[in-house]
Amino acid sequence: KMNKDLGQHILVNPGIVERIIDKAALKQSDTVLEVGPGTGNLTMKILDSARKVIAVEMDPRMAAELTKRVQGKPVERKLEIMLGDVIKTELPYFDVCISNTPYQISSPLVFKLLALPTPPRMCVLMFQKEFADRLTAQPGDAFYSRLSANVQMWSKVTHVMKVGKGNFKPPPQVESAVVKIEPKVPRPTVSYDEWDGMLRILFIRKNKTISAVFGLTTVQALIERNYRTWCAQNDVLLDTEEADNDGDVAMGGEEEADGEVMEGLEGVDDDDLPKGYHEIMNESRSAKKQGKRKNRGKVAELVRTKVKNVLEETELGNRRAAKCDQGDFLNLLYTFNKEGIHFS
Ligand code: SAM
Repeated sequence: KMNKDLGQHILVNPGIVERIIDKAALKQSDTVLEVGPGTGNLTMKILDSARKVIAVEMDPRMAAELTKRVQGKPVERKLEIMLGDVIKTELPYFDVCISNTPYQISSPLVFKLLALPTPPRMCVLMFQKEFADRLTAQPGDAFYSRLSANVQMWSKVTHVMKVGKGNFKPPPQVESAVVKIEPKVPRPTVSYDEWDGMLRILFIRKNKTISAVFGLTTVQALIERNYRTWCAQNDVLLDTEEADNDGDVAMGGEEEADGEVMEGLEGVDDDDLPKGYHEIMNESRSAKKQGKRKNRGKVAELVRTKVKNVLEETELGNRRAAKCDQGDFLNLLYTFNKEGIHFS
């Protein structure tokens, strides 16, 4: 019996199995990571074309079935089964990743693969079609999102094929698609947290102008807090006059007050729900609180000026995240960092 929570939909069309293997362009010397081998329809084919397969499976019954399937066959010694949740497992080195992915781990799996110290040469992965569409979307496309801009920073993503529900047993509720993800070599020398932190802000409202997004009270509060932290860490004294009014300014003593901006979203795993989302929805409430803290105005003013300068220098203020490419985002991040504005 299938365990629904584990997204157990077995791929039963051998033609599609064949095409997935084909797209992975395996070499006989390759070690392949397979995520969620299930009963092993993909695994058996991969074993024929690779040196070794590491299959990470969470369901012991599935692992047992796969073990039985290879027992006594020559390929048996090429297969290593790791029992457990792939997201929580420390992965050994591998060259290629192939998976008919359990859809509930799509996003964490992609980022886990891209964050590996030595990322694989190639990943061929089946996802829910909508997720695949966001992975491959280009600036200006309807599905272009933080996920697209993020994944495409670290890899080249290509659509391979659509896969209808009827190719699985039992059929899932959604349509699927296979994509190819090839991590960039060498990895870009940008801080992941800075990049993601900036994209989280820009994609709060991907169709609004960038200057409008940076004008949101909550975004300003967030940038201001980050700036204070950065100044404290780099021994940059903030405006002394203000320090006189307000004793603790230079020490990041405001963190508590501004902490609310990022609150309440731990564990939310959704690419369209940026950190701070709920507070942005409650902007007016937050704005009132803001008013009570008038004497903190000077640093706020300084940060506003910096943001304004950055948007003028880059000429990106009137553009929208929905239509910006990697070059635009990199330019923006570089210029912000130069001004001492950080996003992590
Ligand atoms: N690869 C098989 C196929 O194509 O026929 C089965 C794919 S099925 C969509 C997903 C598989 O991933 C299931 O066998 C399920 O038990 C396993 N799985 C679910 N969550 C997992 C996780 N977090 N880590 C590892 N395996 C997981």
